[in-house]
Amino acid sequence: MNNHLLHAALAAAERGWPVFPLRPGDKRPAGHAEANCPGTGRCAGGHLVPEQRATTDPDLIRAAWSMRPYNVGIATGPAGLLVVDLDTVKAKDVKGTPDGATSLEALCERAGQAVPATYRVRTAGGGEHLYFAAQDGVRLRSTASRLAPKVDTRGWGGYVVAPGSTLPSGSYDVLDDAPVAELPAWLLEALTPPEKPVRPVRLAMPTRASRYADVVLERETAAVASAKEGGREAELFRAARAVGRLVAWGDLDRHVVEEAFQAAGESAGLRPAECRSTLRSALDWSIRTARPRETA
Ligand SMILES: [Zn+2]
Repeated sequence: MNNHLLHAALAAAERGWPVFPLRPGDKRPAGHAEANCPGTGRCAGGHLVPEQRATTDPDLIRAAWSMRPYNVGIATGPAGLLVVDLDTVKAKDVKGTPDGATSLEALCERAGQAVPATYRVRTAGGGEHLYFAAQDGVRLRSTASRLAPKVDTRGWGGYVVAPGSTLPSGSYDVLDDAPVAELPAWLLEALTPPEKPVRPVRLAMPTRASRYADVVLERETAAVASAKEGGREAELFRAARAVGRLVAWGDLDRHVVEEAFQAAGESAGLRPAECRSTLRSALDWSIRTARPRETA
C-alpha cells in the first residue's frame, strides 16, 4: 500500500506535476492548518500552503511517503494543469439535476465542439477528472459550477487527488491514459474572467490609427503563420484577441481580420473549421470586452 502510493506520487512528479501528501485514506491535505502553524521547519519563513510546498523532487517524495501511506495531491496551478472535475449527482441534489458528464456534453454541444479527448481519471466518488495543459502565462484559478452545474475546475489555488489514491468509498484510477491535451480555446475563453465591464465603444477613426491597425494585423498574422505545432491554436487565439480590440474600435473590418487570420492559421497547419471556431470565439470575446481607446 505504502509502496503503491509512493509510486503514484513519483509517477505524477515524473510528469512534472508537483505533489504533496494528503491524509491517509482521505482527500484533505496532511500537515497543519495555517491557524496551528508552529512557524518552524518548512514554515520557518511563514506558513506554506500545500500549493507552495508541493514538489517534484523524488528524494523529498520518498522521504515523505516512507512515513505514512499518504494519498497523493497534485497542485494543479504549479503543475500547469487545468483539471475539469465532473461530479456525480448526490442525494441532496434537486431531483433532475444533471451529473457533471451530462452537463459537459451539453456545454460542448452548445459551443459546437466535441467533448475533448484527454487524460482522464475516475474519482473515488464515481466522477471524472479531465486533465488539460493550461497555457503558459495564463493563471486560471479554480472554479465551482461556473462552466455548468456539477462541472468544477481546478487550477491555481486548487488541487486534485492523483490516480492511485484510495478513499473508503473507492479509488482514483486512470480511465484514459491519453496524452494531456491543451486546454481548448473555447474552454479557456469560458474560464477567463472579463477584464472590465462590457462597454462597446466606437470612436472616430483617425488615419494614423488605421495605419497602426494594419501594422498590428500584419505582425499578428505573421506570428500565427509561423506558430509551431502544439501551440498553433493558442497562438491564433491570443493573436486574434489582440487584434480584436482594433475591430471593436472600428479601425479594422471584422471580415478583413477573419480572412487574414483564417489564411494564416491554415498555412500554419490548423484545420479550417478549427481555425474558424477559434477565431470566432477570440474575436467575440475581444469585441465584448474591449475598453475605450485610451486617449492621449
Ligand atoms: Zn505552517
